[in-house]
Amino acid sequence: MAKILAVLYDDPVSGYPTTYSRDLIPTISSYPDGQTAPSPRQIDFIPGQLLGSVTGELGLRSFLEGAGHTLTVTSDKDGPESVFERELLDADVVISQPFWPAYLTAERIAKARNLKLVITAGIGSDHVDLEAAIARGLTVAEVTYSNSISVAEHVVMMILALVRNYIPSYGYVLRGGWNIADCVERSYDLEGMAVGTVGAGRIGLAVLRRLRGFDVELHYTDRHRLPIDVERAHGLTFHSTTAEMVPNCDVVTINAPLHPETENLFDDALISTMRRGAYIVNTARAKICNRDAIVRALESGQIAGYAGDVWFPQPPPKNHPWRTMPHHAMTPHISGSSLSAQARYSAGTREILECWFDDRPIRDEYLIVNSGQLAGAGAHAYSAGDSTSGSEEATEFER
Ligand code: NAD
Repeated sequence: MAKILAVLYDDPVSGYPTTYSRDLIPTISSYPDGQTAPSPRQIDFIPGQLLGSVTGELGLRSFLEGAGHTLTVTSDKDGPESVFERELLDADVVISQPFWPAYLTAERIAKARNLKLVITAGIGSDHVDLEAAIARGLTVAEVTYSNSISVAEHVVMMILALVRNYIPSYGYVLRGGWNIADCVERSYDLEGMAVGTVGAGRIGLAVLRRLRGFDVELHYTDRHRLPIDVERAHGLTFHSTTAEMVPNCDVVTINAPLHPETENLFDDALISTMRRGAYIVNTARAKICNRDAIVRALESGQIAGYAGDVWFPQPPPKNHPWRTMPHHAMTPHISGSSLSAQARYSAGTREILECWFDDRPIRDEYLIVNSGQLAGAGAHAYSAGDSTSGSEEATEFER
């Protein structure tokens, strides 16, 4: 019998939904590279319902309890008095979502005497101190591809929102206005602009593919160059470094994991090499951008807009400067947690658990850390290290 501890975000303030705005979601059985969607033996939830919040429980309770395990679900994750910190002491498995990350620092890993498996219900395991996980021999797995297309759609939406000045214009409507000139004085066409992605993996390539129809120049940088036929098919220009790419772009979108190579990549020095009035869309991880350098660049006009859905820590303090900086189009961390994505990452979490309990191998593409080293998707996209420092500031949200 194992103790599974899941940290999920709170239910809606109006209560767990009893009805939904749509009856059906499309069934996605495979992804663009041919990888199959999660395939657990069974699911005990209705795809399209809210699964990522506390009451949704990722649809796992009857499966886990039916097999004799216990499931503890909480949203109380920050600070030494939190339910998470208390329940962690004897948990065998921790499940967390990047949207509401249970930061697994080295100190917490040391306290979790029984911990063996850490599952990210979603993509991006930087909320785990990967170096400490490696040293301790933990398995860290995530549901690779489960929400990559969800995020790519959000990126395209945010690029258009910034370039066309959508959100301020919507604000004029809400306030009863009809201020055409105020709306359009910062509004441009995306057509003809140069768009570049830092990282052309599952999300980055999906963004490039989606943008092709907008008649833009497409650029990318990645530690792994794409096959030449893919570059040719989509008209991509490769740059060997981010520093080489950004001066050539009007829009830069960040789609690489947070790890030592990417932490603080967008600092004052790099941003100063961008075209004046460029836009940054970062749905990858907040710490890839220097928090205060982004504010300074927006205030000075060096960049014309910043959008994304990732913050540090999460939830961010009420006085986080990205809430109030000019020309931003931030959302809470939602791009990868659409109801469509939740169905896939809940099924994928169950698939990982089924493999673990049956002693069957977890798919290689789901592995980040295994057997004391980076493995699978983790070996491809990460370098070992710790990106959790400063996460204790998440307690500030409540104050
Ligand atoms: P992926 O592994 O398919 O792609 C990541 C790419 O980044 C890889 O091609 C890798 O080689 C590249 N990369 C790694 N280090 C790099 C560096 N230093 N410079 C340039 N490229 C580098 O992963 P994905 O599915 O595309 O997701 C990417 C990231 O997006 C995740 O790690 C996660 O942090 C973030 N994400 C966010 C959300 C959200 O809801 N906002 C959801 C999913 C993923």
